[in-house]
Amino acid sequence: MKVLKFGGTSVGSSKNINKIIEIVKANQEEKQIIVVSAFAKVTNLLLEAAQLASIKKTAYTSVIEDIKTIHNQIILDLFTEKDKNEVLKFVNQKLTDLKSILDSISLISELSAKSEANIVSHGELLSSFVIAKVLQVNHIDAERKDTRELILTNTNYTNASVNFEVSNRQIQDYFKSNKAKVTVLPGFISSAENGDTTVLGRGGSDYTAAIVASALDVDVLEIWTDVSGMFTANPNVVAQAMPIEQISYEEAMELSHFGAKVIYPPTIHPVLKKEIPILIKNTLKPEDAGTLITKTSKDKKNPVKGISHIDDVTLITLEGSGMVGIPGFSKRLFETLATEKINVKLITQASSEHSICIGIDDSNANLAKIAIDSTFEFEILKNKIKPLQIEKNLSIIAIVGDHMKSHQGISGRMFGTLGKNNVNIRAIAQGASEKNISAVIAAKDVKKALNSLHESFFKNNNKQLNLFITGVGNVGAKLIEQIEQQHEFLLNNLNINIRIVGLSNSRQMIFDEEGINLSSWKEQINKGLPASLDSFLEQVKALNLRNSVFVDITANAKVADMYAKYLKNSTAVVACNKIASSATYKKYKELKELSRSYDVPYLFETNVGAGLPIIDTLNNLITSGDQVHKIQAVLSGSLNFIFNNFNTKTEFYDVVKQAQLEGYTEPDPRIDLSGVDVARKILILARESGIKINLEDIENDSFLTENNHKADSVDDFYNSLKTDADHFKALLKSANSNKCQLKYVAELINGKAKVGLKEIPVGHPFYNLEGKDNIVMFYTKRYPEQPMIIKGAGAGADVTASGLFADIIKIANN
Ligand code: ADP
Ligand code: ASP
Ligand code: MG
Repeated sequence: MKVLKFGGTSVGSSKNINKIIEIVKANQEEKQIIVVSAFAKVTNLLLEAAQLASIKKTAYTSVIEDIKTIHNQIILDLFTEKDKNEVLKFVNQKLTDLKSILDSISLISELSAKSEANIVSHGELLSSFVIAKVLQVNHIDAERKDTRELILTNTNYTNASVNFEVSNRQIQDYFKSNKAKVTVLPGFISSAENGDTTVLGRGGSDYTAAIVASALDVDVLEIWTDVSGMFTANPNVVAQAMPIEQISYEEAMELSHFGAKVIYPPTIHPVLKKEIPILIKNTLKPEDAGTLITKTSKDKKNPVKGISHIDDVTLITLEGSGMVGIPGFSKRLFETLATEKINVKLITQASSEHSICIGIDDSNANLAKIAIDSTFEFEILKNKIKPLQIEKNLSIIAIVGDHMKSHQGISGRMFGTLGKNNVNIRAIAQGASEKNISAVIAAKDVKKALNSLHESFFKNNNKQLNLFITGVGNVGAKLIEQIEQQHEFLLNNLNINIRIVGLSNSRQMIFDEEGINLSSWKEQINKGLPASLDSFLEQVKALNLRNSVFVDITANAKVADMYAKYLKNSTAVVACNKIASSATYKKYKELKELSRSYDVPYLFETNVGAGLPIIDTLNNLITSGDQVHKIQAVLSGSLNFIFNNFNTKTEFYDVVKQAQLEGYTEPDPRIDLSGVDVARKILILARESGIKINLEDIENDSFLTENNHKADSVDDFYNSLKTDADHFKALLKSANSNKCQLKYVAELINGKAKVGLKEIPVGHPFYNLEGKDNIVMFYTKRYPEQPMIIKGAGAGADVTASGLFADIIKIANN
């Protein structure tokens, strides 16, 4: 024998009811008990009608009409002309009865719990009648029984407690003599000893099914619903949630208790004792495996089975030195809550006993405040404790798994993930059994928290990375192109779902929470909002997305000034802009420290050598305990291009012009030719090697003339290059006569840095450096004579974009 419970959506349309008929028919050799919910939406409509009547709003009559329409539609679809009249008559009769109850409530403007239970019971009374009839007309030997004659409860009308002794006996007696192959029972409803109708709480049909299953010790309890099992998280909030194949009673209980609505929490208890397996199935997709709930959890691979959450939580805190070491405070507190029938969802108390924190439903917050302040009136008056503190708009999130206790590091991972995503935690509770770790967080952070926890605990999940990019010039456009091109590859091979959510140039900005369509970003940005650095940051905050990354592809000091704010918001920063990391040491240090204290990456690999892995390699050397003795490098792609093309047949002026035209120099070539750009780069390498150094500390041995230095504008500067052509010819001549090449070299030796033009002899690694290539030689404790050398293209939009991309991917893998 088995019990099958069909929920509201499963019975909520003729299409779904036809599915039920198939499921029941496929199972006919066994005796079946079918427990049904009210048709979808009907319970809510009944409660709405009751509320309206209680405040004398006549609109309750039109709500009854809505209920009638729902039923009539289903009946007209499912029954032939011949059969439908009997069903319609029953429905009409019940709705007429309902109307008279509502009329009298409206008359006295008062809704008692007793009337509410009576009203709300109509949903299941109607649905069970229709379902039983539909099975009969489909030639199934079905009979209907009113559960109010089987399940006895106390008079806590809307959330009644079951008298199992009597109910079990009544159920067993009835089924002993019942001969029908299929019995249809209305879920949710029951009755008290005095004959009044009671109900088992919202979602209570699951419980009805479990009570019957347990009384009859059936082989299996099947809960047929509108999803394919119990999911690893609420599928409406976490798109990547998936059905759990198998789970223990306790895990299912914890998940349902913490909000996994797919099963009503009390349901597990009656069947657990008899070890009756529960199978959660999807009525709309019966072929899906669903979730099997049994005594033990078989899958030990992933200690976390699921993540759930409860909304509408208020945290109440009772605090004061008067509580320390004095017994009885908690007792009085909990007694007060119990007297007011306030359900406690979470409790934490620090061992100092200075405060106690309790999570309750928002709707009970005011009642709790009045009741608890009144219980402790004397202590509050004497300043022994503070009046009850209340904090609303919170949620509880919980990770659940039987095998969590044998795994260290689970809570570390949970809180680390939340911290990295800037989710502030208000309270934490972990049961001694370690099957559940729960935390109270702001309601606004729930979606982000659940999704990031899900990505962190379920390995085959795609990790979503949300990029906010400023600067869409050459490099920016290339990066977008590369991201668009690599999207599928990253998803399929690295499980990274990379999306650009915000995009800004100096004039306009655009956002799309679902990810900007990259095939048309140019057209979109032209129609964007006016750009502003502050409102860009505000949007990043407001969207509140997990794994957010701010990418700076400008050379703008104002943008660099924003990094600290992003890091403090736990938003990672990736910059090709050198200004921040080459600003004052204090500023550089502040950003590094923010990155550490907020545990959020600040990466700027492209500051030196574009896409070459120079900073990353240096960091790896340092963190593994190596020490840098000397760095020698050619770090300017533009200067290298210039000196490689400057020969006896060319003029220095023309070569610089050409470099600018080809985009190898900064718009103002003085920044390159003065050596400032190279000085900034060696400064960054020196700092990353652990040296406290500022730009002024770097010796700049300039190869420019006084005239060049004096030039006020770019044009003046070019003119001065022409006027002083002989100076540059002389530099070249000297190098040629010494059989040397001119290279602009940066050096860091024993903590001292300098930059300048050098004659490089044949055989030196710098001698053959071509085009716009860069080269860096690290002499360290581990590489004392033969340096570690990194060499390759050190300028250009494509390679710079790929360097930025590498930093971004590093964050995804973090
Ligand atoms: P029924 O009417 O069949 O009793 P419910 O609406 O009570 O169905 O429960 C099923 C719903 O529970 C799903 O449609 C889903 O929106 C919600 N839900 C919340 N958390 C979970 C979860 N972890 N797994 C599956 N469903 C969940
Ligand atoms: N119809 C009731 C409710 O909506 C019981 C149930 O569906 O489980 O709460
Ligand atoms: Mg339900």
